[in-house]
Amino acid sequence: MASILQKLITPLFSGPAEPPRNKVTVVGVGQVGMACAISILLRELADELALVDVMEDKLKGEMMDLQHGSLFLKTSKIVADKDYSVTANSRIVVVTAGVRQQEGESRLNLVQRNVNIFKHIVPQIVRYSPNCIIIVVSNPVDVLTYVTWKLSGLPKHRVIGSGTNLDSARFRFLMADKLGIHSSSFNGWILGEHGDTSVPVWSGTNVAGVNLQTLNPDIGTDSDDENWKEAHKMVVDSAYEVIKLKGYTNWAIGLSVADLTESLIRNMNRIHPVSTMVKGMHGISEEVYLSLPCVLNSGGVASVVNMTLTEDEVAQLQASASTLWDIQRDLKDI
Ligand code: NAD
Repeated sequence: MASILQKLITPLFSGPAEPPRNKVTVVGVGQVGMACAISILLRELADELALVDVMEDKLKGEMMDLQHGSLFLKTSKIVADKDYSVTANSRIVVVTAGVRQQEGESRLNLVQRNVNIFKHIVPQIVRYSPNCIIIVVSNPVDVLTYVTWKLSGLPKHRVIGSGTNLDSARFRFLMADKLGIHSSSFNGWILGEHGDTSVPVWSGTNVAGVNLQTLNPDIGTDSDDENWKEAHKMVVDSAYEVIKLKGYTNWAIGLSVADLTESLIRNMNRIHPVSTMVKGMHGISEEVYLSLPCVLNSGGVASVVNMTLTEDEVAQLQASASTLWDIQRDLKDI
């Protein structure tokens, strides 16, 4: 007897299923990975979402929990497995796997532990999605983006670190909050290392095209009576503070990664401060990944904006580059 399915639905075409067009994979289903996943789902960016982790029960539980929300989402296929075949044909792969900072621990301290994890992950990603763009989120993000570039063999424009996209979002929130306006209406960029040596570009801060440095030439310096420099200090301290208060950071990074994913998937040519290979820019001669304003479209990093930086800002970027190069030089087997 014919089944309900056979009685209900008449197939018009029985060839192989269409491959996904906008598949996104998230590797690592911890706090950050799941915040990225839910943000990408809610922004309706993916036609398929794949999750990978080494903790099988947690992975299956997260997949089922998201699938149970399918009625409220526009991503019809949500899959998960510890085997990377589940990630095949991804357009974007977001890597959040690895250990995170303990209270008071610097991001750079995580490095060799996470490099060892990446040696397992990255070749598998490329094996199943040779045309993908990888967004690295795990810390220390700039060093791990370099490591991913090396391990993947992908061209540099298809390996991106989330970099100072989050630091800049924090900066824009803090500055805008002081001025009583929305974050998106305060324009300011934090460049360089995601972390303790990040560089605030005070010379470019503006609201509606009004440059704040022309209003207060001392802005961002020690001699500024208004102490705007404190906002950058708060950006640097904010991850430590949130980790102290709740154990990890996740919502803001998840939202910011979804924003990057949107520019890539929708071929938008929007500019974001993300980590890219900066050798040859601003007098940096080492192969390091650092954040500069990058034009993102469906090919990855299409181009980098040549910012007009002050001598001091360039010197700070070069110092970030040296700090990172010193660490990269000592990494084993990449
Ligand atoms: P977490 O401990 O909650 O999750 C990490 C996940 O990675 C775990 O589920 C773990 O099982 C998984 N994992 C470990 N080894 C793996 C492997 N070989 N393959 C697949 N999965 C593996 O940590 P979290 O809070 O989600 O943080 C993840 C990373 O993101 C950390 O490195 C953290 O420092 C970083 N982070 C970056 C930013 C940023 O702005 N770039 C912001 C916040 C956190």
